[in-house]
Amino acid sequence: MTDRQIPLFPAEPPSDPRQPESVTWNLWHGCTKVSPGCAHCYMFRRDEAVGRDASRLYKTRAFDLPVLVCRAGEWRGLYKIPSGSCFYTCFSSDFFHADADGWRTEAWSMIRERSDCSFFMITKRPERIEACLPADWGEGWEHVTIAVTCENQVMADKRLPVYLGLTLRHRAVMIEPMLTPVDLRKYLCEDGGRAIESVSVGGESGPDARPSDYAWVLDVRDQCALYGVAFSYHQTGARLIRGGREYRIPRARQREQAKKAGIDLRGGERLGEIPGE
Ligand code: SF4
Repeated sequence: MTDRQIPLFPAEPPSDPRQPESVTWNLWHGCTKVSPGCAHCYMFRRDEAVGRDASRLYKTRAFDLPVLVCRAGEWRGLYKIPSGSCFYTCFSSDFFHADADGWRTEAWSMIRERSDCSFFMITKRPERIEACLPADWGEGWEHVTIAVTCENQVMADKRLPVYLGLTLRHRAVMIEPMLTPVDLRKYLCEDGGRAIESVSVGGESGPDARPSDYAWVLDVRDQCALYGVAFSYHQTGARLIRGGREYRIPRARQREQAKKAGIDLRGGERLGEIPGE
């Protein structure tokens, strides 16, 4: 008999009574511009304001945030971030940036460990996703959503065919900043991309913001309604054209104004007739 006794009734892992949180997880910082949507990237603007080179990537101090454990107090032994929380990753970089290749395996291992939470990542580099997935990705991980951003029709036609060819459990498309009308019909339809679960649209913020037209927003919303895809109008941006008139909207009111439009759709139900069906 060894000294180490195997318990007959092992203790259950401690349950987590805390409320889940929405957490921003910027595990690395810095990026390089890849398309017109990057022209006024707020991360570049902020870094330039403090004299930092935004194109040099570095690991942040929040790198291991998902697996940090409380060492004392009421929640001792539990992860700092409660079970059921949602991590929104890489708002100051791109999860699939090549300069982060050396850190991504560790990032995936933290994401794997926290399968009790969900993870949402947005990329403008879908062509890099496949080579950057972990070896045990299989059909995709249920708790991970990888979203792709397409700011105009050219980028939609370049990125979506690549994105839709990947093995992912959840798909989401973001059109932000919306710079032109975008026709997603062939990607939303069943043969082209039934697996897109949601589309989110938003305008551009900041001092050099380019305008978006509310008619473009409504058109994407109608496309989603046609195919039963969830839609959300995330924010108006700083310059919104409606009925031929341009409105300037302060940063603090851009989300609120978009929500006031009341045009979000939950998805799952078709609200129209598809031409030719
Ligand atoms: S991909 Fe995103 S973070 Fe990178 S430069 Fe473009 S807008 Fe900025």
